[in-house]
Amino acid sequence: MKIAVLGTGMVGQALAGRLAELGHDVTVGTRDIAATMARTEPDGMGNPPYSAWAAARPAVRLATFAEAAEGAELLVNATSGDVSIAALEAAGADNLAGKILIDIANPLDFSRGFPPTLFVKDTDSLGEQIQAAFPQLKVVKTLNTLTAALMVIPAQLAGGEHSVFVSGNDADAKKTVVGLLESFGHTDIIDLGDITTARGTEMLLPVWLRLMGALNTPMFNFKIVR
Ligand code: NAP
Repeated sequence: MKIAVLGTGMVGQALAGRLAELGHDVTVGTRDIAATMARTEPDGMGNPPYSAWAAARPAVRLATFAEAAEGAELLVNATSGDVSIAALEAAGADNLAGKILIDIANPLDFSRGFPPTLFVKDTDSLGEQIQAAFPQLKVVKTLNTLTAALMVIPAQLAGGEHSVFVSGNDADAKKTVVGLLESFGHTDIIDLGDITTARGTEMLLPVWLRLMGALNTPMFNFKIVR
């Protein structure tokens, strides 16, 4: 499949790398190609700059958000939650129409430091805001409740099967996304319902952040026992 991964951070890198490894035709989207390639310092979390990651993956192209979205059959939103709508606007509504968007972004507000708060919750969600802003897009919220490395290689955890969730209005879009999640190795994929159920998974973030603090690692996940 031709896939545009919008976002050059650790989530964009994890998704783009794994999708390319699985044989998909992947283009990563960014605001400014030259500026992204010119970064040489690790990010705030100590991850290597995009240019170093890309040098080892010549099959993955880098393009502007609009160029990446234009040719894609399916898109991934791996941008910072507070700018996701701006990034999708830059991608261009015409380039998004009728396509599936895997939305991994979380509505985190770091303006008062760490841990962040949620800038939307309870009665609305970022997933819904994206769906409302781009009605022709088929938004499927998923993978926002675990760290990037585990999104794409879940078997890295020794504790066995763990859970991921999908939320979205379009049944066929969710089916396609579930197929991709299965190709990553996910085995417990729980369909929560329409895009309003993204409120629930986005509101898991305050719990996830405290768990990371308590366990001192992001390498864990929720496992729904039933
Ligand atoms: P991030 O630092 O949150 O976001 C990086 C991306 O945001 C870059 O591609 C950057 O564009 C874009 N961006 C920043 N400011 C922008 C603006 N003003 N307009 C348009 N785009 C802008 O990266 P991340 O840590 O990989 O996380 C991506 C998303 O996944 C976030 O929403 C995060 O909450 C969510 N998430 C992360 C994890 C994780 O393990 N890190 C886990 C679950 C969910 P450029 O490429 O142009 O710099």
